[in-house]
Amino acid sequence: MDFGLNSAEKMIQNEWRRFCKKELNKEYVQWMDENVDFIPEELWQKFVDIGFFKTVIPEEYGGEPVSTMEAMIMCEEMCKASVSVSLAVGATAGLGTPFIRELASKEIKDKLLPLVGEGKLRSCMALTEPGGGTDILGAMVTFAEEKEDRWVINGEKIFITGAHVSDYMIVICKTEEDARPSESLSIFLVPSDSKGVSFSKVPKISCHHCDSVGISFNNVEIPKENLLGTQGRGWYEMLVVLNPERIAVAMMGVGIMAAVYDEAFAYVKQRQAFGGQIGRFQILQHHLADIKLNLENSRNLAYKAAWLCDNNKPYHMEAIMAKVIAAEGALHAGTHGAEIMGGYGICSEFPMQRYLRDALQIQFSPLSNEMCRNMMMQFEGLPKSWA
Ligand SMILES: Cc1cc2nc3c(=O)[nH]c(=O)nc-3n(C[C@H](O)[C@H](O)[C@H](O)COP(=O)(O)OP(=O)(O)OC[C@H]3O[C@@H](n4cnc5c(N)ncnc54)[C@H](O)[C@@H]3O)c2cc1C
Repeated sequence: MDFGLNSAEKMIQNEWRRFCKKELNKEYVQWMDENVDFIPEELWQKFVDIGFFKTVIPEEYGGEPVSTMEAMIMCEEMCKASVSVSLAVGATAGLGTPFIRELASKEIKDKLLPLVGEGKLRSCMALTEPGGGTDILGAMVTFAEEKEDRWVINGEKIFITGAHVSDYMIVICKTEEDARPSESLSIFLVPSDSKGVSFSKVPKISCHHCDSVGISFNNVEIPKENLLGTQGRGWYEMLVVLNPERIAVAMMGVGIMAAVYDEAFAYVKQRQAFGGQIGRFQILQHHLADIKLNLENSRNLAYKAAWLCDNNKPYHMEAIMAKVIAAEGALHAGTHGAEIMGGYGICSEFPMQRYLRDALQIQFSPLSNEMCRNMMMQFEGLPKSWA
């Protein structure tokens, strides 16, 4: 058993540490958090220049693919600096593009994948509906109707990360009236500037520099060939993308915990009370110890899930467990980190309040901790506790 990174992984870690330190310093991240609803063009371009988007497309399209482990190493570094930034680039890299890569026709891949690598194509994934995200099969009403040479889409989506700046959206719709719910979904590639598409802002307290928005589809027509994969198989085809996403969300929790720990640890050494540093108080030491415990456990489990994925072994259980403990660990860290900093813990001037706000988002997105626990016990063979 080897818990160390290999030399290629260490190189990537060093490169991304340098990149994030230089391009995502705390002042800049704070500026973004207070001023923009998506990362600025110049920052996007820096991700293009470092070759980030090439990592998610195959070599024949000019890509330089990386393993899941390598992708998670990059993700951890980004998330330490800003979960919003990881979501902003991740919506294209980890959600939209894999659908195109895995399910689109050769013509569509030839046209779009090179543009992804050059950073000229942004995408997102629109699954969740106002009626519910957890019970998406029960809640979905967005319907794509087949009409001669086209599909016509009507319905609404909610909380779609990066949709407002996307060029293309991956939209999951119902296409079958009478089939079982799990056999009634299909996946579509929808140009975001299609007639009948409109976006609405959803103000929220977390991840300010990567908005998640509402989308309305009002008789939106798309060509027949924009059906990705097989009609009616969308539910099963989605899993190809959504399983790795859970490891990436665990990395968001890991990044938040690591950032909180560094910040709070430095603070207890310099802040004075009752004639000495507050770091001598046992209760604050215990808060820090718990953050470190959760960080270490979550990081190990998340990397184990990535390793299993790269080695073609089942990893659905580990990915979900990593997501839960990292999300809950991040919320614990944000809460106690803020407490350690006293009043400064909730002041905009310091990033601690952002870590806490961002930690809230990953409790239920993309999958709630409750549903993760349901699924864990289903994987273990207990009766399905829902539906
Ligand atoms: C900021 C943000 C970004 C997002 N980005 C995207 C995106 O890019 N694309 C996309 O498609 N979606 C996105 N989502 C949607 C996200 O996946 C959903 O919010 C999530 O699936 C939960 O759905 P819901 O919010 O409708 O809550 P609900 O499904 O209504 O759940 C409400 C509560 O009920 C609980 N619950 C429901 N069923 C059960 C059960 N059987 N057992 C126990 N508890 C249960 C849940 O755990 C939760 O606590 C995003 C959401 C947010 C907030």
